[in-house]
Amino acid sequence: MRIEKVARKIWKFTDWPGLSSNVYLVDIDVPTMIDLGSKDFSGSLTRALGRIGYSPADIKKVIFTHLHFDHIGDPTLFKNAEFFASQQEIDDMSNNRIGAFFALFGTNPSALLKGIDLKPIQNSGKFTIIETPGHTRGSICIWLKEKKIMFSGDTLFSNNILGRTDLPNSAPNQYADSLKKVARFKYKILCPGH
Ligand SMILES: [Zn+2]
Repeated sequence: MRIEKVARKIWKFTDWPGLSSNVYLVDIDVPTMIDLGSKDFSGSLTRALGRIGYSPADIKKVIFTHLHFDHIGDPTLFKNAEFFASQQEIDDMSNNRIGAFFALFGTNPSALLKGIDLKPIQNSGKFTIIETPGHTRGSICIWLKEKKIMFSGDTLFSNNILGRTDLPNSAPNQYADSLKKVARFKYKILCPGH
């Protein structure tokens, strides 16, 4: 797994883009992960964390930008963490709007999150949560003002490469507004999901 230092105390982990999302560790308030990649790569994520002196047990918060299986990883490894996603995303998962489609890949998000107490995210500590429906109805972007970093999940991959909005729980009609909302933040670094 490739480890890249994005800024002081912020790292990006990349493994098999396309099969597994980027994973970020932000150790600013408390050690916080943004997305966990695909479960198949959770062993290599654990080893990569070890290489920079962390173990999954050190992580206190995990924030999911949305609940597609390639972002959920293996949350059971993070025994001391609280888990967060948007209320909309949690509702859609409970109603199986996400699961029915992704079960086709043998990776139903509700199965991956079984036994995990997922809480609705609000602005927390130094993170500002931006609701950006489009890729999924409950997708969020996460703004870290003091570093001018935008964690954009699958909403925005670079300034001209956009996420898919043709999935069962996408919100294509709201996508343009979400992109405008993100653009108003004058980010210096974009940390996308892929
Ligand atoms: Zn996605």
